[in-house]
Amino acid sequence: MIYLDSHATTPVAPEVLAFMLPYFTDHYGNGNHKMGWKNKAAIESARFNVAQLLGCRPNEIVFTASATESINIAMLGAVEANTTNRRHIISQPTEHPAVLSCLEQIKSKGYQVSFVKVDALGRIDLIHLEELLGEHTFMVSIMMVNNEIGTVQPVKGIGNLCRKNGALFFSDLTQGVGWHLIDMEHYPIDFAAFSSHKIYGPRGVGALYVKNGPQNSNISPILFGGGQEAGLRPGTHNAPGIVGFGKACEIIEAGDSDTQQLAANRDLLYRLLKNELSIKLNGCPHNRHPANLNISIAGVRGEELQGSLQNIMFSTSSACSSHSPKPSHVLSAIGLTNEEKQSSIRFGISKFNTKEEIYEAARLIIGQVKRLSKPVQQMASTR
Ligand code: PLP
Repeated sequence: MIYLDSHATTPVAPEVLAFMLPYFTDHYGNGNHKMGWKNKAAIESARFNVAQLLGCRPNEIVFTASATESINIAMLGAVEANTTNRRHIISQPTEHPAVLSCLEQIKSKGYQVSFVKVDALGRIDLIHLEELLGEHTFMVSIMMVNNEIGTVQPVKGIGNLCRKNGALFFSDLTQGVGWHLIDMEHYPIDFAAFSSHKIYGPRGVGALYVKNGPQNSNISPILFGGGQEAGLRPGTHNAPGIVGFGKACEIIEAGDSDTQQLAANRDLLYRLLKNELSIKLNGCPHNRHPANLNISIAGVRGEELQGSLQNIMFSTSSACSSHSPKPSHVLSAIGLTNEEKQSSIRFGISKFNTKEEIYEAARLIIGQVKRLSKPVQQMASTR
């Protein structure tokens, strides 16, 4: 098995798992007693590690169950707390379905939603954003890094435009944390969401960043219960998950982000495939997630290739939207033809992939594409 789908989820690092295990077996207490205090201290230590990686204060981090939950709490909670007459939200068409679905909810509350244009590489048009921003704009939601094509957005510039216009800025950082240097203290971002299982931590735990902490910001709870996480995410803490998340952040903060190795393996895979096949790179070739490779291969359907190569794990579109048979909304937004969309596949390299795995995956993919492909013209715009 060769796992090349790390945008969907990363394997849990062995050190992370080892760190988590005692919180299932020994330190499971959850109350006002010695075992409970130990548990609470571990959660606060994890919060410190997450905050260190994000360059923010620990009280600005709220633990949740996923990035999806963080996105819902931030976007719907900010709208719930809105006492102004601003009823306009700006986003982009290439956001993750969690954001797009929240926008649908928000629209049903009477808000107007506009989408800023993206170009053929998936980069937003800042001039268009400036034109859309106005005195009625309440919030802008633009992700830092796209999960399908890896394109990086200029979040600092976007945030500065929001500040100028008095709008809140929410950013989904899920694919940016772990390799992109993030300095929330100096970023003009009000709320942000991210997740442990994209950075070699466990699933079922995410975080919401709230500038100045939940007590000092305009965000109302959308979940109600025991008051944990400053009332924004009530419910008994997932202590093993949270300590694992903290450990994963600590490992990255200690310098183990392996960005160069990821990019080297990603570029090697691209070169090997490009030497033998007619492929087109989707997304921005320069400013892109170091692990991301999204390509369209002339003459084969991505799903057919995936189904016939069961020992290599990759995606035919975003893993999070793979429940839907519809073609990728991201690839549609950047103007791919139907044929290019159907023949697209996405790889996400992980820090555990070896060079040998990359050579082997390329060999198997090339062989299979040659067997499956129908005679086609060279793709018009191979890059
Ligand atoms: N946002 C982005 C950009 C993602 O890539 C994902 C998951 O793939 C999510 C949000 C949702 O994350 P989670 O699985 O933690 O809900």
